[in-house]
Amino acid sequence: MVKRNQIQQECKQPASSGSSFAVLNYHRVMPIHTFWNEQVLDVGVFEQQLQQLKRFFRVLSLEQALQLAAEGKVPANAVVITIDDGFADCFDHIFPLLQRYQLQATFFISTQGLQQGYLWENQIANAILQAPAEITMLKLQDRQFATSGKTERHRSIVAITDLIKYHAMAQRNQLIAALIAQTGVPQMHHEFVTAEQLKQMAAAGMTIGAHTVHHPILALESAETARQEIAQSKAILEQLLAQPVHYFAYPNGKFAVDFSDEHIAQVKDCGFAAAFCTDWGQARPTEECRFRLRRFTPWDRNPWLFSLRLALHIVAERYSIRFLKEWVGTHGN
Ligand SMILES: [Zn+2]
Repeated sequence: MVKRNQIQQECKQPASSGSSFAVLNYHRVMPIHTFWNEQVLDVGVFEQQLQQLKRFFRVLSLEQALQLAAEGKVPANAVVITIDDGFADCFDHIFPLLQRYQLQATFFISTQGLQQGYLWENQIANAILQAPAEITMLKLQDRQFATSGKTERHRSIVAITDLIKYHAMAQRNQLIAALIAQTGVPQMHHEFVTAEQLKQMAAAGMTIGAHTVHHPILALESAETARQEIAQSKAILEQLLAQPVHYFAYPNGKFAVDFSDEHIAQVKDCGFAAAFCTDWGQARPTEECRFRLRRFTPWDRNPWLFSLRLALHIVAERYSIRFLKEWVGTHGN
């Protein structure tokens, strides 16, 4: 059994030529940047990024990238696109643009969204947005959250989602119930890809991966619950798509914070071939690292800065240039 610090060291070694690739990690793409968190990208900005990728990089499907990495033949400018969670914009905006530019991507799906039409965080957002106008303050765990205007409500959605996120599922549900007791039961809309849409995306060559059922932080759950979350999401997707699901992404995804070696072992046991974290870096699918493949979250809205940062990221990782890694990994805003 390899110890954690050994694995960490292995995974931090410079990415040797031909055996590593950059993996972009997207979440949400929407028409107007009306949302409140930096993981939401405007559709126009996303399209510009795809144009840049098409022009300057070599976008590979995950299968192609892993195959080429095994042969030590990954092109230096190789990029794999991944999108986490499975919200409705995957089908409405991301999928049509990928098709327009003839690009493939991997979608990691939290399967409760398929069954229910939304995830827990949508409940929080809708409860706060739909709260009657006279409700100007919400209380949760001895903290107060302003809801007097639109801006206050948007800020409170971010703050309350962050507060509720770092709880085990049972407490998460209690906190959401406590929120809804103050706001009233929100009307929920369909905010997730449907089963039919997912089948269509898979049939068009998109790779579908698992991302648990309820999107819990695995490190906060019991071993048994974590195992069920991992195994069930795989089984549900395999039944729906009538094909094996080989890849997994850890919710939230920071190693040693959101998941541990225990969950890596569970993911292996469940029969996955590789898994992704959200730690910054090149994916280097060696024996030691293929169950915590690193990714790159693009946040630049300017298409040229996006390309520059991605290119420098690849160079910094390949030659292990520390100051460049730090610059690349530092938010501009
Ligand atoms: Zn996620």
